[in-house]
Amino acid sequence: MKVVYMDNASTTPVDPRVAEVMHDYFVTHFGNASSIHEFGREAREAIDNARQVVAKAIGAEEEEIIFTSGGTEADNLALKGIAFSDEYEGKHIITSVIEHPAILKTAKFLEKQGFEVTYLPVDSEGLVSVEDVQNAIRPDTILISVMYANNEIGTVQPLEEISKLARENNIVLHTDAVQAIGKLDVDINKLGVDLLSMSSHKIHGPKGVGFLYIRKGTVIEPLLHGGGHEYNLRSGTENVPGIVGFAKAMELATIELDKKANYMMQLRDKLIDGVLQRIKGSYLNGHRTKRLPNNANFRFDQINGEALILDLDMNGISASTGSACSSHETDPSHVLLALGLSHNEAEGSLRLTLSTETTEADINYVLEVLPNSISKLHALHPRVSKTEFE
Ligand SMILES: *Cc1c(COP(=O)(O)O)cnc(C)c1O
Repeated sequence: MKVVYMDNASTTPVDPRVAEVMHDYFVTHFGNASSIHEFGREAREAIDNARQVVAKAIGAEEEEIIFTSGGTEADNLALKGIAFSDEYEGKHIITSVIEHPAILKTAKFLEKQGFEVTYLPVDSEGLVSVEDVQNAIRPDTILISVMYANNEIGTVQPLEEISKLARENNIVLHTDAVQAIGKLDVDINKLGVDLLSMSSHKIHGPKGVGFLYIRKGTVIEPLLHGGGHEYNLRSGTENVPGIVGFAKAMELATIELDKKANYMMQLRDKLIDGVLQRIKGSYLNGHRTKRLPNNANFRFDQINGEALILDLDMNGISASTGSACSSHETDPSHVLLALGLSHNEAEGSLRLTLSTETTEADINYVLEVLPNSISKLHALHPRVSKTEFE
């Protein structure tokens, strides 16, 4: 049976070139980067080089990169770090309703600590309105956090415009760019952000490593206290192999970005057009063009997304309903509900996410299997499927 992995927004396979550079840092250059001897110096040098590589990839300077255990920690560090550092200037934070749980749950936690959070709505295509951001700004607003691109529906937000507002009002702007790197141009100066979260395992790097970019002059409070690693902002012996692998993955993901993005976009469009043409009662969730080049998210009339995923899985296709982080929950996706979909509609959704390794043959296979799966599921519930023709 053909195996087609279409869940690259959840995680990606580690690139063999990444695994290869990591290997030596487990076995040979295993030193603690804080030690002064040869082994320690090797590890320190590797981290310094990695920091240079990832900084360059987003137009930042080395001292502005803080390595973390991943995107979740970077998001926590951004929100709590600013909240606890700036709480005497104000206690109001602005974010959106479609953020990743690493932002939303952190915002909820901060509410319990006495902060006030405004959750901006999105339109039916998943876009935050710049006017809403403007109206939400108050004299005591200390932070705006809006993700660059959504992990479920792929919608790309108007960050540059939001950043103008943040600047005019002297408010720190954070963005979760975990899904954007390797798919969109991510330049911290073009975007005008002060803080940016990134994770390695979404771009063919190892799991358990990421970074927070912190613009020079932005003061934040650390979450982890200890030996003072990462410029005193993230104590803990550095994950040297992870950091080295992450840098290699960043390097590979950002070489010839336009070419890679165009490649994925062509396949994505073939998939979207093919599905919408072949399957009656199918719709695209999210914006048609302001979306990640590797994201397709569909909704089908009278279909249970979970049953569909299982049927696709039996045919060798790995897909997802919402995000992997929440698909063990039974509630429908908060992102799909925020678009104005009913519970039923949200539950009939399917996310297919591509990578540079996806081939045209993979897309053809999905276009062959998916219509059959849908018909099969409709046939299992004939009473429901009848309404399809009403
Ligand atoms: C995956 C993801 C995260 C979490 O990153 P981890 O490294 O898995 O903790 C955060 N935000 C977005 C948008 C993601 O897609």
